[in-house]
Amino acid sequence: MPLAAQKRDEFARAPAPRTDVTIFSPLDLPTPNRMRTASGAPGPDYWQQQVDYRIETELDPIARTVKGREIVTYFNRSPETLDYLWVHLEQNILRKDSISSQTDGGAAVGGPSEHSDGVQIARVAAAGAPLSFVVHDTLMRVALPQPLAAGAKFEFEVEWSFQVPKQVFRRYGTMETKKGTIWELAQWFPAVAVYDDVHGWNTLPYLGTGEFYTNFGNFDLAITVPRDHLVVASGVLQNAAEVFTATQQERLAKARTSTETVMIRDKDEVGDTASRPKGDGPLTWRFRAENVRTVAWASSEAFILDACQSGDTLVQSAYSEDSLPVWGKSTQMLRTAIEGYNKRWFPYPYPVATNVGGIEGGMEYPMIIFCSGQNRKSEQGLYGVTTHEIGHNWFPMLVNTDERRHAWMDEGFNTFINKYSTVDWFPKSKTPKGSNFAGMLKSPGVPIVTNADRLNGMQLGLLQYEKTGVGLLILRESVLGHERFDFAFRTYIQRWAFKSPQPADFFRTMEDAAGMDLAWFWRGWFLEDAMFDQAVERVQPATERRGARITFVNKERQVMPLTFRATFEDGTFEDRRLPVELWHQSDKVTVTLEGRGKVTEVRIDFEQMLPDIERTNNLWKAEG
Ligand SMILES: [Zn+2]
Repeated sequence: MPLAAQKRDEFARAPAPRTDVTIFSPLDLPTPNRMRTASGAPGPDYWQQQVDYRIETELDPIARTVKGREIVTYFNRSPETLDYLWVHLEQNILRKDSISSQTDGGAAVGGPSEHSDGVQIARVAAAGAPLSFVVHDTLMRVALPQPLAAGAKFEFEVEWSFQVPKQVFRRYGTMETKKGTIWELAQWFPAVAVYDDVHGWNTLPYLGTGEFYTNFGNFDLAITVPRDHLVVASGVLQNAAEVFTATQQERLAKARTSTETVMIRDKDEVGDTASRPKGDGPLTWRFRAENVRTVAWASSEAFILDACQSGDTLVQSAYSEDSLPVWGKSTQMLRTAIEGYNKRWFPYPYPVATNVGGIEGGMEYPMIIFCSGQNRKSEQGLYGVTTHEIGHNWFPMLVNTDERRHAWMDEGFNTFINKYSTVDWFPKSKTPKGSNFAGMLKSPGVPIVTNADRLNGMQLGLLQYEKTGVGLLILRESVLGHERFDFAFRTYIQRWAFKSPQPADFFRTMEDAAGMDLAWFWRGWFLEDAMFDQAVERVQPATERRGARITFVNKERQVMPLTFRATFEDGTFEDRRLPVELWHQSDKVTVTLEGRGKVTEVRIDFEQMLPDIERTNNLWKAEG
């Protein structure tokens, strides 16, 4: 045979080489710069805006209105001059003519169930002079009297009001209980949009699914409510002596020294006027929250309140009698979840953590979470939602990501840390195995990196929560191992605590700190919708003394390390763990085992860690 033909023949028999942009090719990430470096860390010129608020607000339960006045101090830390500000008016989502109301996108995922006139703006002003503004859907553009120079600050005020819908709408609303109404207020005040180095003004509208992306700042909150209400909010209560009775203040002091739950107001005291400070008229509750990206609050005459201490953090729960018995455990659940995250990832960053049992099934804000008050029985249900919502105080309250563009960076990272949190409350539970999640790879052709508002509810849950969470689980358990993963993930949190990373900053930090090229993993799992299927193709005897030459194939685009167990005829077995680089040159590889008698069985992924879409081809058995 001529040499050329021989070569051609050899080539034909050899596994096909890769010719396209392979799963291993470098990612096309934004060029590193002095803001966001090649290592994934914030660079020497990193900046972000700061916005402080002094808010006075009043709840009128009869009229179902919330009125407010806020003084906003906007610090322009960017190197640019700004000509106008964009401000979110999220309650406008309830208008009949809102984008959300008019599109299936909103309705399909729980758009407004009831309409209102949205936010009424009574006044926008600076230094006593009105500022002109225009409203587009859930956003308001405010004209600046003069351009705001780099490094300068601008103070302005807004007066607004809105109607609280009767039916529950996403993230806030009211719940009727035997002893009164529970009011939950969230995304409720005009909040300046984020201006950043990546998108300039972030003006994605509030459509309902994508949550929020806001600036860090300090908040002084004064909330005026009927005297018989108790109020909980993001922030540290500043005037306990004015809003609690002497007995309640003593109990609170006791709670501050106790890891056990201490009742501040118990179920029999609810409705008793002796459980509220003497006097007439409404009461104003004052809170201060530092370095938070928003504030939320809840108020009710029906609230039972209990508390305990965890390190420097006051942990408490506010719920009604209707939520007993399971809500009686809420404060301990919250403490347990927080302490687990402290130990594994990063210390809880705030002095207060409050769980509220109201109409909202599960939503997170800095220092305060809303979990379903309608769940009165399921301990699993309450712990599950509590550990999830408080987990959001790490992602995205501490590591502030853009929830409208990259919901996976908060929901998915949180889902991942939740997987290790269950065992803290239910010691017999086991960390789930990746193999349980193969079904999600068959999801309908959408990658994880898709804006939340472009996904239906099923896709949102599957991709942004579960697939991202399972992806990190696989990275930790099957790719990097615990030491390497934990160091990298903690590095990511430390680098970006109180800052705003983009997806590339995460990918780069993980690779930088773990010391591994993970382009194949990010590409297959996050950037594309690759499926994954490893198979044993054939097993041949290797030598005189047997052993085997085993051929494995990677049948889909996603690659993973290869783990298999070969069992010999005497019943002994050998486990092999081969790195992902095994697939660098081809989707077909042959592994030789030294002779130890005849191989009778080969099983891929025998620990069931990987979401292989076709497990039947993972097993080879000798005939006869
Ligand atoms: Zn969540």
